[in-house]
Amino acid sequence: MAGVAPADDGAVQREELLELVERFTAEQIIPRAAQYDREDVYPAELVEAMRRLGLFGITVPTAYGGSGLDLLTYTGIVERLAYGWMSVSGFLNTHFMACFLIEHFGTEDQKQRFLPRLASGEIRAAYSLSEPDAGSDVAAIRTRAVRDGDEYVVNGTKMWLTNGREAGLVAMLVKTADVEPSHRGLSVLLLEKPPGATHAGGITVGPNIHKLGYRGIETVELSLVDHRVPVTGLLGGEEHLGFTQMMAAVELGRVNIAARAVGVAQRALDESLRYAQEREAFGRPIAGHQAILFKLAEMGTKVKAARLMARSAAEQKMRGERADLDAGMAKLFCSEVCWEVCQDALRIHGGNGYAADYPIERLYRDAPLMIVGEGTNEIQKLVIGRRLLEEHRA
Ligand SMILES: Cc1cc2nc3c(=O)[nH]c(=O)nc-3n(C[C@H](O)[C@H](O)[C@H](O)COP(=O)(O)OP(=O)(O)OC[C@H]3O[C@@H](n4cnc5c(N)ncnc54)[C@H](O)[C@@H]3O)c2cc1C
Repeated sequence: MAGVAPADDGAVQREELLELVERFTAEQIIPRAAQYDREDVYPAELVEAMRRLGLFGITVPTAYGGSGLDLLTYTGIVERLAYGWMSVSGFLNTHFMACFLIEHFGTEDQKQRFLPRLASGEIRAAYSLSEPDAGSDVAAIRTRAVRDGDEYVVNGTKMWLTNGREAGLVAMLVKTADVEPSHRGLSVLLLEKPPGATHAGGITVGPNIHKLGYRGIETVELSLVDHRVPVTGLLGGEEHLGFTQMMAAVELGRVNIAARAVGVAQRALDESLRYAQEREAFGRPIAGHQAILFKLAEMGTKVKAARLMARSAAEQKMRGERADLDAGMAKLFCSEVCWEVCQDALRIHGGNGYAADYPIERLYRDAPLMIVGEGTNEIQKLVIGRRLLEEHRA
């Protein structure tokens, strides 16, 4: 299958690319998703096929070996992949957050060193904020990096690293100074490691965390004991900018969650539309019962509104403007819509909705992650509320 041509060739228009991804989803993801999910195995062939398609470099600038495509194309791709299986959209998410960090905040040397390899998919990236005792309260992280000559010595434990084992690069938030307020003492290290290794230097990668859904993609704990990182791995070559840098990348992650929520919700809707016309009760298809029809109407309306929210947030972020409000609103709205639509889809499917033979059972287990990941929805409400007050001072 042909890969993604660089944008400045003009060879692949957004619609053509999205059609290509739609075909990839139909032919390669949908037929295998149930088995991958059931066995909770890492889908190496799918990741390799994504690499050959050029999907790991779509937003990386052409000057660094990527396709230089825009965020709207990115969200379209994420939506289509998640339609097939949510985990597949997760392979892209942390990778793009790391690419974004390097593109926007990295030194020229860091861009040259990492972006071409990330764009080709030769290495993939993880993004690490969370720790066992700090998730929403990012500034409370304890992993510490102490400068020793030309190196940082890193000690601590990071938690919930999506793509954490297979990644060759981890963009990691660490503490480099004890100051008040504490978020001003944080920095980002670009930490290299052999993909797939469980031990490297002072790093130990833990076993996969067994999860409700979002299976196949690895989520791991990563601990560091006197692990040495060259100072050339300090993002942008400057300390104490980590919090702002990571929060800018989180906005991209929130746009990803919004888009993947639309993909999962659309799948739940499509499965329900089909099932409601095929399944009969009381002498007619259940779609003929008004209670079911109303559910379908509400589901369809919500999915459409969610897609518009996701696109609007992508456009805002694409303009390079502050996007915490739009990305937060889109993440909140789309993830809640997705969860509601999956619950309605389960009801429409009756007993079959509870059976692993039907995709609804998996969608129902996958959907709640989007309420928690990239900042819980309670945290989104805090961000949104504060920003609204900022914009509308009485
Ligand atoms: C499958 C999976 C993959 C993940 N991947 C990554 C990853 O790749 N990289 C990464 O860094 N992290 C990752 N995470 C971590 C994720 O970002 C955190 O779980 C999330 O930010 C919430 O943090 P927490 O789990 O520590 O919850 P806590 O912060 O302990 O929150 C617990 C509850 O308290 C609420 N709460 C906390 N503070 C407030 C407040 N001030 N006001 C109101 N309510 C509040 C929360 O909303 C939540 O309901 C992943 C998580 C999961 C489950």
